[in-house]
Amino acid sequence: MQNYTGRFAPSPTGPLHFGSLLTAVASYLDAKHNNGTWLVRMDDLDPPREIQGAADNILSTLDAYGLHWDGEVIYQSQRHDQYEAVIQSLLTKGQAFYCTCSRKQLAEHAPAREQQISPPYPGTCRKQHAPPNKPFSIRLTVKGASHPVCINDQLQGRFCQNLITDVGDFIIKRKDLLYAYHLAAVADDHWQNISHVVRGIDLLDSTPRQHYLQQLLGYNTPHYAHLPVVVNDQGQKLSKQTFAKAIETTQCNRTLWMALSTLDLKPPASLQYESPEAILNWGAAAWSPKALINVTRINSPQITINV
Ligand code: GLU
Ligand code: ZN
Repeated sequence: MQNYTGRFAPSPTGPLHFGSLLTAVASYLDAKHNNGTWLVRMDDLDPPREIQGAADNILSTLDAYGLHWDGEVIYQSQRHDQYEAVIQSLLTKGQAFYCTCSRKQLAEHAPAREQQISPPYPGTCRKQHAPPNKPFSIRLTVKGASHPVCINDQLQGRFCQNLITDVGDFIIKRKDLLYAYHLAAVADDHWQNISHVVRGIDLLDSTPRQHYLQQLLGYNTPHYAHLPVVVNDQGQKLSKQTFAKAIETTQCNRTLWMALSTLDLKPPASLQYESPEAILNWGAAAWSPKALINVTRINSPQITINV
C-alpha cells in the first residue's frame, strides 16, 4: 500500500466538542491502523470567526486525549504566500478571473437562478483577467468541468455534483482578501502529501469542488471518507451554534471510550479505565469503519461527568 498520510484540520472557532473529537479520533485511528502519519493542521483562515485561544485549547485537548500528532502543526494563516501563488497560476492559465460583481448585482440574479434558467454565477466577469482598480474577489471558472464531477467516498459511496448547474464559478479569494476554504484545503492537502482525508459529512458537498481544483492544478486526489454527523437528542448537529458542550479533559479515558463505542468498535467495558494512549492503541488495532458505511447521522451519547 502507498504511504498513508492523514490529517485533522480543525478551525479554531471554539473548543472541541464530542462531534469534532469523533472526527479527530476516526482520522487518527484510520491513520494508525494503516501505520500512517497523522498531521494536525489549523484551519485559521478566517480571523473574524476565530476565538482567541481556541487553537491552543484544541491542541492541548488533543494532547490530553493522547491524540499526538506527527511533525509540526501547520497554520493556514502562515501560508498566504503559497495560496497566492496557486491563485496566480490559475489566473495565468485563464482558469480563474477577477470578479467585481456587487452583492446587489448577484442578488438580482437570484430569481433566474432559482428558476434554473441561469447558472448560479451569471458569468458576468469571466473575461476579466487583469486586476481591476476596484475591490474584487477571484473566482474559479467551472466551465471546463466534466458533468458531473464524481468522487468515490470510502464511506458514502459515489458522490457526484454538476459544478456548472449546481455550484457555478466559485470564489477562491474573497473580496475581503481572505482565501477561500476550498483553495487552501486543496493547496495544503497537496503540499502535506495527504493521501487520506477522513472528515465530517458536512464537507462531502465540498469534495467535487476540491477534486476539480486538484485536477486543474495537476494534484493527486486523496482518498476520502466522510463520517456521519453526530447529532444531539433534538437531531441537531453538534456545533457551536447548537451549543454543543466543550469536551472535558478530566476524564479523557471515559470520553474516548465513548467515542470508540459511538464509532461502533465495541470496546470492552474494562478499557475505559485505561490510559488514553492504551485506549487509542486498542482502537487502532480494532479499527474498521464498516459500520459507518452509508450512515449519515449518529446520536451523541449522553456525556455525563462524574466528579
Ligand atoms: N476546518 C474544517 C472544519 O473544521 C475541516 C476542513 C477539512 O477537513 O477539509 O470543519
Ligand atoms: Zn462578477
